[in-house]
Amino acid sequence: MNGACIFCDIAARAVEAGLVYEDADSIAFLDTHPLFPGHVLLCPREHYVTLLELPTRLTGPMFATTQLLARAVENALDAEGTFIAINNRVSQTVPHLHIHIVPRRRRDGLKGFFWPRQHYTDDAAREAVRDAIEREVQKLKT
Ligand code: 5GP
Ligand code: ZN
Repeated sequence: MNGACIFCDIAARAVEAGLVYEDADSIAFLDTHPLFPGHVLLCPREHYVTLLELPTRLTGPMFATTQLLARAVENALDAEGTFIAINNRVSQTVPHLHIHIVPRRRRDGLKGFFWPRQHYTDDAAREAVRDAIEREVQKLKT
C-alpha cells in the first residue's frame, strides 16, 4: 500500500519508528504509546490487514521472529514474561497486521483489566459452540 498506511511508511523507512529488528519479510519497532517500556510491534513488510490475510509462507517466519523478539524483550527489559497479542479488526486501530510483544512482570497492573471472563450457561450451550466451530474447521479444511 502506498501513502495511506503508517506501518507501510515505517517499513519503507520513510517514517522513523525506533527500529529494533528487520529482515526480508518483517520489521519491528517500538510502539509510540507503550503499555510498558519495551512494547514492540512486529509487522510484515507487505500490507496485510489481519492475520487471516497473511500468506502461509509468512506464518512460520513471523512466528519464529515473534519468539526471537519475545526473548530479546524479556532479556533487555529484565522482564518475567511477555504478552503477545494481535487485534484483528475489532480494537485494531492500524489496519496493517502487527503483533504486539509486551514485556510483563507479576503485579504489573495489566492482569484482568480488559479480559472479563464469562461462563457458558450450561453444557448444551458449550457443546453448541464447540460443535459450530468444529464444523467450520472441517468446512475450511476441505
Ligand atoms: P492496535 O490498536 O491496532 O492493536 O495497535 C496499534 C498500535 O500502534 C498502538 O499500540 C499504537 O500505540 C501504535 N501506533 C500507532 N501509530 C503509531 C506510529 O505512528 N508509530 C508507532 N511506532 N506506533 C504507532
Ligand atoms: Zn500498510
